[in-house]
Amino acid sequence: MSELSFKDKVVIITGAGGGLGKHYALEYAKRGAKVVVNDLGGALNGQGGDSKAADVVVEEIKKNGGVAVADYNNVLDGAKIVDTAVKAFGTVHVVVNNAGILRDTQFKKMDEKTFQLLIDVHLNGAYKVTRAAWPYFRKQNFGRVINTASPAGLYGNFGQANYSAAKLGLLGFAESLAKEGEKYNIRANTIAPLARSRMTESILPPPILEQLNPEKVAPLVLYLSHEENKLNGETFEVAAGFYAQIRWERSGGVLFKPDASFTAEAVGAKFEEILNFDDSAKPELLKNQHPKMLNDYQSLTNAA
Ligand code: NAD
Repeated sequence: MSELSFKDKVVIITGAGGGLGKHYALEYAKRGAKVVVNDLGGALNGQGGDSKAADVVVEEIKKNGGVAVADYNNVLDGAKIVDTAVKAFGTVHVVVNNAGILRDTQFKKMDEKTFQLLIDVHLNGAYKVTRAAWPYFRKQNFGRVINTASPAGLYGNFGQANYSAAKLGLLGFAESLAKEGEKYNIRANTIAPLARSRMTESILPPPILEQLNPEKVAPLVLYLSHEENKLNGETFEVAAGFYAQIRWERSGGVLFKPDASFTAEAVGAKFEEILNFDDSAKPELLKNQHPKMLNDYQSLTNAA
């Protein structure tokens, strides 16, 4: 494969003042992109703010001969972040929704504010930035969105009901954007990374952290956001150089007759069959949702 250049591409990375986002920013810039380094410079729990985080990354990019501007807006002011890109570089081609915070709490103690805050920063923030970029993507017939989910969103995690809910939401968000964006050459994909950063430093043991170099995530983000990538609406797990695709799998399923025999007891009696994956499918479209029912419907209408 020839070198993946981002020359003349304008890339917004949210939360790029540290951690994973910083590595993405440096890599995009190295490959010729004009980079908007967004970061409000807050603490891991979302409190406070400091322009220094974004400034330091922009300085480093410029020192290496790259092109970048800093943006200190909260992702919830997504339109302002896109404005920064448009004012500096005329448009936006790639949005990497990466900004994030943590407020881990056991669910029994999780108040509404703690839940809502995580939904806001991760999910609503990604909506705000992407929504503001969307008209530019459509007009120029090119756009790439990378959403950042998490293994905690895919599988759940103790003390992270707020974070998991937001993270899995980002996956559904990308899947729908992919379907709407396809004909405008807009691709939206999702990553579920694991990497060494202030998010993981206090939870994972040092020998594991040593392997989780955040630089090992950047190649996937760059590949998926390049114009050569045709994948759309897909999800990938990435950690320590391990790259794998995640997809939905549905068991063979049971179609119940909608008559008097269709009771809770009948469902209970068939549960073993409902849980049987021997004859499973890997649906990607809403219309693949009930194949047995649709096949029956099809044969009925064909017969009519
Ligand atoms: P990080 O804390 O180093 O980086 C997140 C950045 O987002 C910070 O610089 C922070 O200032 C910024 N930010 C937070 N709220 C913001 C807001 N409202 N507006 C603008 N910027 C904001 O953590 P990281 O590990 O680099 O995480 C990057 C992304 O990857 C996050 O979405 C995180 O949830 C996700 N993720 C990380 C891991 C991991 O193992 N590190 C695992 C799964 C998911």
